[in-house]
Amino acid sequence: MRTQRYILGLLVVLLISAGMVVWTGRAFSARRLLTLYRTRGTEWELSAPPPQYRGLTAPWRIGVQAGHWQVEALPWELSRLRTSTGAHYRDFREVDVNLSVATKLVARLQEVGIEADLLPATVPPSYNADAFISIHADGANRPGVRGWKISTPWRPSPASKTLHGFIADSYGRHTGLPQDRYGVTYNMRGYYAFSPHRFQHAIAHTTPAVIIETGFVTVAADREVLFNQQGRIVEGIVEGVIRYLSRKNPLEWQKLLPQASPATTVTAREVPLYVLPDRDSPVKERLLQGTRVLPVDQEPGWTEVIVWRNYHRFGWIETKALQPPESSGN
Ligand SMILES: [Zn+2]
Repeated sequence: MRTQRYILGLLVVLLISAGMVVWTGRAFSARRLLTLYRTRGTEWELSAPPPQYRGLTAPWRIGVQAGHWQVEALPWELSRLRTSTGAHYRDFREVDVNLSVATKLVARLQEVGIEADLLPATVPPSYNADAFISIHADGANRPGVRGWKISTPWRPSPASKTLHGFIADSYGRHTGLPQDRYGVTYNMRGYYAFSPHRFQHAIAHTTPAVIIETGFVTVAADREVLFNQQGRIVEGIVEGVIRYLSRKNPLEWQKLLPQASPATTVTAREVPLYVLPDRDSPVKERLLQGTRVLPVDQEPGWTEVIVWRNYHRFGWIETKALQPPESSGN
């Protein structure tokens, strides 16, 4: 009787394990379990798996995601986003712009000899490419807002920052649209597809990535470009991608690694948190002395921080107002 129960229990465990393997699409390797274990404490604590290096001779490959496309098919781990169908204004839908632009962008990249994948909302697990570009369009009821913006993930790799710089430079020139300079949101920085430490269906942490809000579907002047002049959008992105690829040194794989810094503390009395690393940019709030912050990006003299465990509160502060990393007590 006892043995029978034992065998039955064992069978149930085996069945559940088999189910997990089928459901997740792969076995839980020791490394994966270790990574899960290590990231349990804080989502920012990246363990360091070896970079998924694409080699010296692999053809260039770009992933182009049509934002919100096929959200209904998102896997279980992202099921809360299945209703995230994107912005719209009357009959103008963001997802139509995203899919149309992404399709044309993929065709254009292939035309110039670059391998390109058209990706829906679901990203293949640990998607590995020379760049991942997520195409979106924005919507807002606030008067005066319009134009485009581009964002890297939190803690961007140097490669992601370079890609960002080239596309930001060419996009405005080709489209003629203004930049929504202060418009990048925490939803863009923490985009689910950028987060391999939280989701399996995300890019590899060594894939350089940007998300582009191509314009506002709620603004007539933006809609003119978004719906009727998509060729300009495509050229704006393609130029940036080609400039990035042509300057990329495949030997410098370290540039693919996200930049990590330990949490630290505000040491100055009351510090303005700016939208950009620029004293002329708007001040979001003032951080009090002793505020715990997590550095997520660096520029000369400036550090971008998230207020500890509150990633809705982020911005740039002058690095001299922070405790230097080597002396920061954890
Ligand atoms: Zn969107």
